Amino acid sequence: MTKLIEIEHLQKHYGENEVLKDISETVNEGQVICVVGPSGSGKSTFLRCLNVLEQPTAGKIIFEGQELTNVSEKALNELREKMGMVFQNFNLFPNMNVVENIMLAPMKVKGVNRSEAKKQALELLAKVGLQEQAEQYPQSLSGGQKQRVAIARALAMNPAVLLFDEPTSALDPEMVGEVLKVMQDLAEAGMTMVVVTHEMGFAKEVADEVWFMADGYIKEVAAPEEFFTAPKTERAQEFLSKVL
Ligand code: ADP
Ligand code: MG
Repeated sequence: MTKLIEIEHLQKHYGENEVLKDISETVNEGQVICVVGPSGSGKSTFLRCLNVLEQPTAGKIIFEGQELTNVSEKALNELREKMGMVFQNFNLFPNMNVVENIMLAPMKVKGVNRSEAKKQALELLAKVGLQEQAEQYPQSLSGGQKQRVAIARALAMNPAVLLFDEPTSALDPEMVGEVLKVMQDLAEAGMTMVVVTHEMGFAKEVADEVWFMADGYIKEVAAPEEFFTAPKTERAQEFLSKVL
């Protein structure tokens, strides 16, 4: 297996608050990792450290063999382009329609011309089932549609990995399924994904590995069938007794 992201002794402290104490794990190409754990355990912080949106206090993040925590700002920005991010609250640009939202980064950052960017964007919209909505503005979309646009926008940069931070947490329950379906399709197409989620059904079905985070550590790494039926640590047993 090819290593895509190597995390070595990652620490992140906010003042006295030692959120991530010592984390070393590897994401391999094509893997789907679901990061689960109690609220406040540092899952979002961890995800933001992976692309150094958050500067680690100590430790290394190595992406495609390059140490993100020790490259120039320019190199970091170029490497980050290959790490797509999808947030809980969509973060679409409200003043641009759907297709423009998706075209922006390829045009601005990669210098793709307008017609090529539009062609690509429409293909991506078809992939997430939203070609009809291409000319609409974000405000007229449902939450589930907005999140599917956000995923298409992340894909437009042709990333090596997608990082998701609770992509369905802000959605009405009836819209969760359509977003998880798109994510599952991506997983099945071989996309490498790190997904922070409370959707245990998704983790069970789609994850190659579940990483259970608590108390500043990744306390368990296990295949989902193992994690959900026979968690090893008491901390995970306690967590699962609350969420399942
Ligand atoms: P989770 O995503 O698992 O709910 P977070 O990563 O959001 O957890 O937060 C973990 C801890 O880090 C919390 O105690 C939170 O208050 C703290 N924290 C997160 N971001 C910041 C920040 N920018 N400044 C200070 N403390 C933060
Ligand atoms: Mg969070």
